[in-house]
Order: sequence, then C-alpha cells, then structure tokens
Amino acid sequence: MSQAQPLIIDVHGHYTTAPAALGAWRDLQIAALKDPSQKPDPKALKISDDELRESIEKNQLRLMKERGSDLTIFSPRASFMAHHIGDFETSSTWAAICNELCYRVSQLFPDNFIGAAMLPQSPGVDPKTCIAELERCVKDYGFVGINLNPDPSGGHWNSPPLTDRHWYPIYEKMVEYDIPAMIHVSTSCNSCFHTTGSHYLNADTTAFMQCLQGDLFKDFPTLKFLIPHGGGAVPYHWGRFRGLAQEMKKPLLDEHLLNNIFFDTCVYHQPGIDLLTKVIPVKNILFASEMIGAVRGIDPQTGYYYDDTKRYVNATENLTDEERYAVFEGNARRVFPRMDAALKAKGL
Ligand SMILES: [Zn+2]
Repeated sequence: MSQAQPLIIDVHGHYTTAPAALGAWRDLQIAALKDPSQKPDPKALKISDDELRESIEKNQLRLMKERGSDLTIFSPRASFMAHHIGDFETSSTWAAICNELCYRVSQLFPDNFIGAAMLPQSPGVDPKTCIAELERCVKDYGFVGINLNPDPSGGHWNSPPLTDRHWYPIYEKMVEYDIPAMIHVSTSCNSCFHTTGSHYLNADTTAFMQCLQGDLFKDFPTLKFLIPHGGGAVPYHWGRFRGLAQEMKKPLLDEHLLNNIFFDTCVYHQPGIDLLTKVIPVKNILFASEMIGAVRGIDPQTGYYYDDTKRYVNATENLTDEERYAVFEGNARRVFPRMDAALKAKGL
C-alpha cells in the first residue's frame, strides 16, 4: 500500500441528488397516510439506469474527480429518512426503495461507490424489526455499514439512550456482520432544532455522551460507532468530557470509548479540522465530506467549497504523511472491514 498516494475514501456520502421521481413517490406515500386507498405501489416508481447515472455523474462523481477522491460510502439521503413519518410499514417500504437505489448506484459505479443502509426505524417500534432490511443490505447488496438513528422521533428524543438494551438486537447483528453504524439522525420535526445546523450536531454530541455515561462497549467490545460531523461538540469540549468521565469514575476515554467510537472530518473550515486532529487520536479520525449535503456553497474566505474537506486534511500541520494515510484510507479499512475485503478482492 503506497503511503505516498492513499486511496481517498469518503466514508460519509448520501444520495442527495436522486431523481425527482423518488421525492414524488415519497410525497404520495405521505399523502396516503391520510387516505390508505391512495397508497402508492413501490413498483410504480420507475427510475432508469440512465437517470441514476446522470444524477451521479453530474454531481457526486464530478466533484469526486475534481477533488481527487476515489470511493464514497454511499447511503440514502439522511434528511429523507424521516423515520417519524407514518409507522413501521411506511419506513420499511421507504427504506427498501432508498437502499435499493444506493445499491444500483454501487453497481453502476462499482469503483466509486459502496453502500451503507438506512434502517426502517419507526418511533416506539422495537429495533429488532430493522434486522431483515439490514440483512438484505449486507447479504444481497454488499453494503458495508448502516446509519443508525438514535432519535427516530425527529427531535423529541423519546427513545432510550444508545446504551440501553433496547438497541441490542441491532448491535448483535452489527457484531455478527462486522459492520459499523454511523450514528445519524434525520429531519427535525421540532422547530426548536434546525435539521443540519443543530439537530445533527446535537445528536452527535448526545450519542457520545450517552456512550460515556454507559458501559456499552463492555457488552460489545467490537462494536463500532462512527460519529459524524466531526463529532459535534465533542472534540471542542474534550476536556469537559474527560472531566465528566473522571467524576463518574469511568476509565480514561481512550480505553472507555476510543476503541469503539470514531469521528469523521465533516467539519467545514480549517480551524475545525486543526482542532479535531489535534485533540482526537489520529486512529479515530476518518475522512469524509458529506457532499453534496448540508452546506453546498463556496467559502468567500478561501474561494473553495466549504465541504471540500480534503483540502483541510491536506493542509493541517497536525498530521504526518503516515497519519494522513490513516485518515484517508487506513482507518476506513479498519472500521469498515467489509469495504476493506471488497477493495482487496479488487486488488486494492
Ligand atoms: Zn450525513
């Protein structure tokens, strides 16, 4: 493995550019919640391979080429998961459709995209009900990870914390298949929380604190969580978290959480990446951009896209070349063993 030119693996991409027919089908599904006789047939949604190709080539793939990234772990659009809408059956049908589209993208562009699943979560429903879709995505689609929503209510936080046995059926499957979960909420339906500006970042911080308070990784020593968006407020407040752990008589965070929790680089400015790479051990940081996502504009201070995070990782003085290799490639291979195996099968 050449360390001079790492494979650039972006572990956080969503299909935000899916053809409009997908959203139109979802609108019908939502409308039919009031009038079940109008429930749309999933088979009525027709999106051709050419449409999929175009939606990717003009968008994600174009930017990947421009920015020099090779492979994206690709999951359904996070804000579209909207687990709070309808019931389990609503989520189940919707997740199956969205996951299948990501699978088709991964088949059309096998060198550039590999899938991660959204789960058919629904508020108040046993997470065990998500297992069938999870299994299908791993076994039939070759997906290498899942997105787990710690708050399927969409901003009301009425599910038990991630350390609760409530979630264990999913963790047991994750361990069995050796897949990590990105902890990722969806649209906020609580007007106090802007979806990507606060709900996402709150959830990242909340997930970390839940794990800090509990002892989940004693029960699941090989379980892996990826906390996106640079870990929310976690790196910035690392001293607070260390101090809280100390007061709670928890082990040092390195031992308590950092064999199991990882952070991505979806932080949209240089000082943020400098802080992340200074505070969090390099082995726990994975390259990601979440493009084309929450922040699509160009930073007038730099002239570059905010979400062109590769620039910040390259520019930070906190990383040696070897460490940069770990962030771009090595850590992703470790955290996503199924992706590593898929790459090795291709001689990469
Ligand atoms: Zn995301």
